[in-house]
This record gives sequence, C-alpha cells and structure tokens, in this order.
Amino acid sequence: MKMTILVAVASRQRVVIVGGGVLGTMHAFAAQRRGFEVVQLEREAEARGASVRNFGLVWVSGRRAGPELELALQARQLWEELGAAVPGLGFRAAGSLTIAADEVELGLLKEAAARPDADRRGFELLDPGAVRTINPALRGDFAGGLYGRLDGIVEPRQVLPALRGYLAAGPAAYQWLPGREVTEVTAGAVRDHTGAWHHGDLVVLCTGAAHTGVAGRYLARGQAAPVRRVRLQMMQTAPLPEKITTALADGDSLRYYPAYELPGRAQLAPQPAAAARARAQLLLVQRADGGLTVGDTHEYAEPFAFDVDEDAYDHLRARAETLLGGPVPRIQRRWAGVYSEVNPALASAALYHRSEVEPGVVLVTGPGGRGMTCSPAIAMETFH
Ligand SMILES: Cc1cc2nc3c(=O)[nH]c(=O)nc-3n(C[C@H](O)[C@H](O)[C@H](O)COP(=O)(O)OP(=O)(O)OC[C@H]3O[C@@H](n4cnc5c(N)ncnc54)[C@H](O)[C@@H]3O)c2cc1C
Repeated sequence: MKMTILVAVASRQRVVIVGGGVLGTMHAFAAQRRGFEVVQLEREAEARGASVRNFGLVWVSGRRAGPELELALQARQLWEELGAAVPGLGFRAAGSLTIAADEVELGLLKEAAARPDADRRGFELLDPGAVRTINPALRGDFAGGLYGRLDGIVEPRQVLPALRGYLAAGPAAYQWLPGREVTEVTAGAVRDHTGAWHHGDLVVLCTGAAHTGVAGRYLARGQAAPVRRVRLQMMQTAPLPEKITTALADGDSLRYYPAYELPGRAQLAPQPAAAARARAQLLLVQRADGGLTVGDTHEYAEPFAFDVDEDAYDHLRARAETLLGGPVPRIQRRWAGVYSEVNPALASAALYHRSEVEPGVVLVTGPGGRGMTCSPAIAMETFH
C-alpha cells in the first residue's frame, strides 16, 4: 500500500519529453520550472535536427502583427533571462540590420519604420553612414538600412548542451536519455526501441520534422495535413577577424517576413534567376568564433533534393560580399536542414501545432522558421 502511494506521488511529478531539439529542451526547462521531474529521450546520440542547423536568430523584427509578434516578444524576453542564467547559450542582444540595396527596397523599409508597432519591434531607419556607425564592417554600396534593435543571437551548436547542463543542476531531477528512439505511444507513456517504457503524467512529443515517425499517425496527410516540411541550405565560413556587430539581412528578406507585407513590397524588382529558383534571402550571423553563418533557401516540394545546389551558394556569397564590400573567408561547412511548419494553406493555420494525441500525450511541432526564436514561449504555453 505504501509503495503504491509513493509511486502515485512520483508519477504526479513526472514529465516525459520525446525529442532533444530546442522545443523538447525548452519544454524540459518549462516543466522543471513548474517542479516536475523530467525525462527527455532523443533518438540520436546528440540532437542533429533543425535546432543545431539554424542561424541562432532570435528574430522579432519581421513577425506578423498580433499573436506572432506577441509570442516572439515574450520569447525574446525569456531568451534574455535564460541567457543571463546560462552563459553557454551565447545570447547577445546584437540587433539586426536589414539592408536596402536601392531606393525601392529603401522605400519599403521606410514603410516598415512607419508601422504603428515599429517601436515595439525596435525599428529605426538609418542612412548608410548611420548603418556603418552601428556596423563598421559594412563597407559595400547600399541605400540604407533598418535597425531591428530587439533581434538577438544565440549559438545553436551550444544551446542544447548548455541548457541540459543547467537542467542537470536544477531544482528537480532531470534525466537525458540519448540514443533512445521512441517507437510506441500510449496514454501517459512511451516505449523506446530497447523496449523500455517511460511513464509520466504528461508526455510531450517534440519530434520536429519527423512527420512519418512516431508522430506520423497523428498527422493527417495531403491537403488537410496540419504541418508540412521545408528544406533550407546553409553554409559557414572560416573565422572573419573583424567583428560583425549585428545580424544582417538583405532586401530579399523583405519578400518573406510578414512585417513587410506593405504596399512597397509589390514594387520590388524580380530576384535574379538563381535566387528566385532557390527562394533565397540573405541572412548572416557571426558566430562566437568569428565564422559567418550564411543562408538561406526554401524548398517546399518533396521529395527534397539530397544534395546541395551551388548556384544558391554562389548567389548568397555574392550578396554577403556586396554588403561587406570585400571577400568573405573560405566556406568551411555546408549543410541543409529541414523544419516543420504549420500548413499555410489551412485557414486555421496557427503559429505552431499543438494537439493532445492520446490522454496525457501532447504533440508540439510546426513552429517553422520562427522555432528557435519562439521555443521558450511555446514551451511556457504548454505548461501555462
Ligand atoms: C536551416 C535552418 C535555419 C533556421 N534558422 C532559424 C533561426 O535563425 N531562428 C529561428 O527562430 N528558427 C530558425 N529555424 C527554425 C528552427 O530551427 C526550428 O523551428 C526548430 O529548431 C524546431 O525545433 P524542434 O525541437 O521542433 O525540432 P528538431 O530540432 O528537429 O528536434 C526534433 C528532435 O526530435 C528527435 N526525434 C524525432 N523522432 C524521435 C523519436 N521517435 N524518438 C526520439 N527522438 C526523436 C530528432 O532526432 C530531433 O533531434 C531554422 C531552421 C532551419 C532548418
């Protein structure tokens, strides 16, 4: 009898998380903060999904007005607090500069700077001289820039181990179980490939873009699919000795971020063919070691390419060199990444997907290209 009570008490305090990416790890953080013991399973020896392949941009500036901006602002605040507690995240409130190559792009930046919520995004329109005062490394020719004061940067290759280290020393027990692929889900429990069961009062599936894995049976296919996958190409240079003080974006980013759905967007000239084919935009972030993470492209139709396309890289490198006014260091790494995003064709498309798939089992995925940014706030919403 006594044993039963002990098990019941322990059981009430336990959360099982499947997936070692940023969503899973932020859920582990949110659960521990609420006093739960946490067990987190990851199929790989270390997370290898979107969370370690991204820019590490905590990107507030381009968000759609309303719930998306609110979620990003809340998350930005949480990242800053976490960054102070966990220096290994590499959080820095670096801000961003979106650079206009010509007067047409500058016109759209002016419209963005005049948005009623421009202050909440930290927007400030700058002439080329003022851009260079903030970021002296920008020696190229351009018409002006939009400063996004609130945008931040973290180090994606460090975030997950740093957070796990913090959790291991946290107020409630935290167990990290890498190399465990969950193959079965039932009410309040999952089984991994070794046959071991893991029980919790809450199970959170944060399985990322693995839409055919254990989460697959809960995700409808075809037109009604709640999520889809997107593939991106990225690269990283050898260290640049000079400091790039802010994150950088080029005018092509104005085509993709909803904050720029303004009249001036229709005036933008067509992209060069290689960029249009790859749906490229330049985003550039300097890593803590000086290397430059440069991307990205967008591929929506599956099956995705299994190889990377050099035309897209040539375009992105040339764009980066135009902004910097000189060559970027040798490209040292190239990779592609895939994220899960809510299906934009659905009228009901939310900011991310959350559903209770079995009693006591919640699936959280599909935050798309804002997943690194919004992950702490999404996790808090699960444990609200
Ligand atoms: C190239 C690229 C650049 C991006 N840049 C940014 C950016 O700068 N800022 C931003 O806000 N967002 C960015 N994003 C989006 C962001 O990275 C993702 O939205 C976010 O990382 C998703 O996190 P996740 O934990 O859901 O997925 P993942 O990181 O993919 O993690 C899911 C994990 O679950 C594990 N898993 C799956 N199935 C199982 C199973 N059955 N058992 C055990 N484990 C399992 C996987 O191995 C994986 O480690 C970018 C994405 C990409 C691809």
